Amino acid sequence: MSAAVAARQILTRLHEVMASRLHAQGKLDQVVDIIAECLDSEVCSIYLLREGMLELVATHGLNAEAVHVTRMAIGEGLVGTIADNVETLNLAEAKAHPDFQYRPETGEEKFHSFAGVPIVYRERAVGVLCVQHLDPRRYEDVEIEALQTTAMVLSELISNNELIDEEEARGLAPADTGPATVAGLPLVKGLGSGVAVYHQPRITIDQVMADDIEAERQRVYRAFDRMRDQIDNLADRAEFGVGGEHEEVLKTYKMFAYDEGWSRRINEAIDSGLTAEAAIERVQQRTRMRMREIDDPLLQDRMHDLEDLANRLLRIVSGQIGTAASQGLRGDAILIAKNLGPAELLEYDRRRLKGVILEEGSLTAHVVIVARAMGVPVLGRVRGLRGMVQEGDLVLLDADNGNAVARPAQQVVDAFAARFAKSRERQAHYAELRDVEPFTRCGTRIEVMINAGLRDDISALPLVGADGIGLFRTEFQFLVSATLPQRERQFRLYRDVLDAAGDRPVIFRTVDIGGDKALPYLRESEFENDENPAMGWRALRLALEREGLLKVQARALLEAAAGRSLHVMFPMVSEPWEFDAAKAVFDSQLAHLRRKKKILPEAIRYGAMLEVPALAEVLDQMVPRLSFLSVGTNDLTQFLFAADRANPKLAERYDWLSPAILRFLRRIAQATAGSGVDLGVCGEMGGRRLEALALLGLGFRRLSITPVAVGPIKALVRQVDLAELEKAMQGWLAAPPQDMRGALTAWAQERGIETD
Ligand code: PEP
Ligand code: MG
Repeated sequence: MSAAVAARQILTRLHEVMASRLHAQGKLDQVVDIIAECLDSEVCSIYLLREGMLELVATHGLNAEAVHVTRMAIGEGLVGTIADNVETLNLAEAKAHPDFQYRPETGEEKFHSFAGVPIVYRERAVGVLCVQHLDPRRYEDVEIEALQTTAMVLSELISNNELIDEEEARGLAPADTGPATVAGLPLVKGLGSGVAVYHQPRITIDQVMADDIEAERQRVYRAFDRMRDQIDNLADRAEFGVGGEHEEVLKTYKMFAYDEGWSRRINEAIDSGLTAEAAIERVQQRTRMRMREIDDPLLQDRMHDLEDLANRLLRIVSGQIGTAASQGLRGDAILIAKNLGPAELLEYDRRRLKGVILEEGSLTAHVVIVARAMGVPVLGRVRGLRGMVQEGDLVLLDADNGNAVARPAQQVVDAFAARFAKSRERQAHYAELRDVEPFTRCGTRIEVMINAGLRDDISALPLVGADGIGLFRTEFQFLVSATLPQRERQFRLYRDVLDAAGDRPVIFRTVDIGGDKALPYLRESEFENDENPAMGWRALRLALEREGLLKVQARALLEAAAGRSLHVMFPMVSEPWEFDAAKAVFDSQLAHLRRKKKILPEAIRYGAMLEVPALAEVLDQMVPRLSFLSVGTNDLTQFLFAADRANPKLAERYDWLSPAILRFLRRIAQATAGSGVDLGVCGEMGGRRLEALALLGLGFRRLSITPVAVGPIKALVRQVDLAELEKAMQGWLAAPPQDMRGALTAWAQERGIETD
């Protein structure tokens, strides 16, 4: 008998049972009878997890008195081992297995062979379906597959609460595999706890048994077509270039996507009576099991690719293409993703998002900057997440120490709560510095401003006691909008920001779109030929070309600042003429408003970001044009080191405290010293205490940082003697120590300055 026919027979009969009006126990009893008969097995039993134990709930062939009496813990006996490892066992001689445990009440001593499969619900084993035979024989693949298919049906029924009642279903929740800790790179420090939510949720399979097999075949056929198209398009995209790792990865993807064996197995599963979704999942389960037996990290990676593809196929076939954001967060959540774009993150409810765990990520990726601004801790570069953390697990995220615990034990939860309280205490201490002006020990006033970009950020200004907004990323409004924001909407946001800031200055940076801030609604062709978007068609380059964009923004800013001061900053200025061209757009808008007799801003100050190294070579030409200059260390570092700021592999490679960067920054400070140009740093570097210390030592007196860092940086400033620090910095830059970070840390420690 083929696997398909065996499984179809079982499925047809199960279908009848499930459609019957029998009560839950009656259905379970029928299910075991059918399986025992179809697989010609003396015994068939179902164990379901109840109150944390696997309870024998139905049997054909074991002593009836054992039902609801025999209970095994997870990990105990063969049944417990299957549930624990979420793995199939197929044994000719059950007693020979080291985990075998004899339960006299069942009367199972006479049976030799044993095969069992986990019943999986929401990635957890919530039960076990097993068969036993008098003769010592290994069950054939077709039989195991039939069991697995039945287990899927049972899990569907569990999810529909047809086999167990509501209360028992809730009892399934503690079904876990114990605590698991994952480690990664702290990208945004902080603590957070919540329920694990996958950004790309697992597909829920509503129907396991097919009503019309031919229709299911067609569905999967079309889905394969679409998936292959997607993969081909991906491979053809210029940004992947030729050669290198990307090509390898895509080759493997393509190989899997076109693998005839894969599609054949899915079709066979459909023939057995499964829906397209269930068939894909069934085949994937089997592959997972096979791969798990092979302990090879390279193959594990490939497994990841295949999982990815199978999920893609499932999403296409089921039409479930939305992210978790579209479903909304129901409570405190820790978001889990491979990677995210800033716009995707912004779709989540800020109040409920307590943390993010990424498989990739780097310190200056925009998604991380956004998370930092939102005060959401982020752990990045975590490997093996999918296997360790399941949707719905409680997760304690400790991005201070670079780890997260899923399904923590109660003592860990308590210890975490205590640390939470401590960290709140520390924050309360920083909050006390709100009205304290940051003077150094030697009496120099340091300007501490915040970076912002969202309407909600404005409220942070008075809360943390900052001197103003040193960088308002206007493109964030573009990122969170479904369409290009019209002038009126821009105007309203800018006006509200200025209203909220009152006397404090706000430096509006004109749009920096492109790079990792692509807008879905701007024609893709704008970016699609960018092989290297960070160095490509972005920021001022794009804005000058699409003059309409800059004109609209200029008008919105000028009108919003009517009767008050306006600070405008241009991003990615690489040559002086670009600054002039951008300013000319503002000038012409200003002239227009003047002609119209509108109220004009009472003062306009223009500045530039220094994030393209070339600009540092022409500062003599730039200085007379500028009112202020703000160093964007995020981009500057990526260009100085030729290291993509969003590439997770490079996330830890280069240090902001490396002599190359520090010397470069010192040159900028020297070139602007005494010129009247206000110099600051607005990259993420300035919000980290040790890095901020270095910047003060280099002559920077204005830092624009993420709001949560204002307290800690003010505290730092108050402990520093600038003359002493500058002298030490001169020494380090003249003859750089092997470990600049270590030298600076030791210097701070000797003086009792807290830097971590
Ligand atoms: C920078 O590049 O340092 C910067 C502040 O701008 P953004 O991070 O928005 O590119
Ligand atoms: Mg930048």
